[in-house]
Amino acid sequence: MTTDIQSILNRLGIKADNAAYSTGSNWGGATNTEKLESYSPVDGKLIASASVASVTDYDAIVVKAETAFKEWRTVPAPKRGEIVRQFGDALRENKEALGTLVSYEMGKSLQEGFGEVQEMIDICDFAVGLSRQLYGLTMHSERPSHRMYEQWHPLGIVGIISAFNFPVAVWSWNAALALVCGNVCIWKPSEKTPLTAIACQHIIAKVFKANNVAEGVCNLVLGDRTVGELMTNDSRVPLVSATGSTRMGKAVGAAVGARLGKSLLELGGNNAIIISEHADLDMSLIGAVFGAVGTAGQRCTSTRRLIIHESVYDAFTAKLVKAYGQLRIGDPLDQNNHVGPLIDTDAVAAYLDSIEKCKAEGGNFVVEGDVLSGDAYASGCYVKPCIAEVQNDYKIVQHETFAPILYLIKYKTLDEAIALQNGVPQGLSSAIMTLNLREAEHFLSAKGSDCGIANVNIGTSGAEIGGAFGGEKETGGGRESGSDAWRAYMRRQTNTINYSNTLPLAQGIKFDL
Ligand code: NAD
Repeated sequence: MTTDIQSILNRLGIKADNAAYSTGSNWGGATNTEKLESYSPVDGKLIASASVASVTDYDAIVVKAETAFKEWRTVPAPKRGEIVRQFGDALRENKEALGTLVSYEMGKSLQEGFGEVQEMIDICDFAVGLSRQLYGLTMHSERPSHRMYEQWHPLGIVGIISAFNFPVAVWSWNAALALVCGNVCIWKPSEKTPLTAIACQHIIAKVFKANNVAEGVCNLVLGDRTVGELMTNDSRVPLVSATGSTRMGKAVGAAVGARLGKSLLELGGNNAIIISEHADLDMSLIGAVFGAVGTAGQRCTSTRRLIIHESVYDAFTAKLVKAYGQLRIGDPLDQNNHVGPLIDTDAVAAYLDSIEKCKAEGGNFVVEGDVLSGDAYASGCYVKPCIAEVQNDYKIVQHETFAPILYLIKYKTLDEAIALQNGVPQGLSSAIMTLNLREAEHFLSAKGSDCGIANVNIGTSGAEIGGAFGGEKETGGGRESGSDAWRAYMRRQTNTINYSNTLPLAQGIKFDL
């Protein structure tokens, strides 16, 4: 690996020596000696360590955020948008450095690291326009000389809990919208990727400082789930937006729900592409292989199942096996490689366990999996993408394994294919490959896919800013990033103004004194 990581860390101004980090130029003053150590899955080396936020650190940050909110909510939304615009520009300047650190700390390819920062830039652009479009409706009152309308106000502190696989983009989806809406944020990133979070915090802190924004508008608390739990149980945090596994989402949803707070949940997927007999098979191949092996199968939208029409099943499987034979696995910073490492050796163990379980249920591997060894794979996190023929109702197929294991399932009729696609507990992303208009429209109709995302002639993996992102069922029901997702970050207030000389009551109720 030739990239000079130390110079990247220097360029990003990372001082990984404190945990509770607020928006100003100063660290928040961590009181904990417990450290989070960040090891790269690329080469297994320790990159840096950072202190875990203690309860005292967390409390200090919340108090700071509450104070900052009182001021930030009074800044006109378009002016807040202007600051988010400048943040987007700062990301443009830091795209190469931040994208490289994302790749090195998380293990995704350099191209995907840059793509992740581009997604941050795109959400900033989206949020700037949005800052002038936080519309409410006006209604006609049934009472004479009355005016009725609704307006949207900020909530206060938005807690953001994020997963390791999109270590920076998911935070920005939430933060950019939350900020233009007038909220302040506290971010608890994945304990597996603390350094990219510190880098982001550093970039936004500079922008805030240049604009004399009070400390405490954007805050970072590092730590594992116990730090996240401080937030989910804290009624000073009205909205918790949490991205991660369904297991985590159930715990977060229950904790926030118990105090009647709001939660926005973006959880696991189990995404399928239907390859119809009317598909363009060459195009389908690219969508399927990128969807299954991109980010080493560690995207919430990764393609986990291919539901293939019986008439093209053998031909398409042969193409897949050939394509898998050509995949180059190795250092994700080397742009010649297609597949990088899994996040850590626990993920490797989960991959091996799933392969065993699949075999035990009767799965037939047409491309075998394995853990790679040798100097180039010294971190122990590199695995071979594999493919198994299965039945959809295998327990392991119903489960999201966050690794490059692709399941093949055969179908006869489109209705059967849709039932298979919908026949899992998760409901994030789905796709059909077909050149047949009737099939495509049927798949998108109310009788079709039950997922939050349904594509035609595009794979399941990835999404662009502009559309609302999220899924149904055990994916959690949240929507982020595009469309009217901003409403989740605001509270709606209905206002009725009486400009008459009398006080008529609604529904014609008489009450005379
Ligand atoms: P994870 O659930 O292990 O952890 C995610 C985050 O939640 C971490 O910051 C963790 O510290 C925190 N956390 C865990 N338990 C918690 C609790 N009880 N209370 C508060 N915080 C808690 O997930 P991961 O391994 O980092 O990420 C992979 C998972 O994330 C996959 O299931 C993937 O599908 C999902 N994901 C979903 C989306 C989406 O938009 N739907 C996007 C990215 C990742």
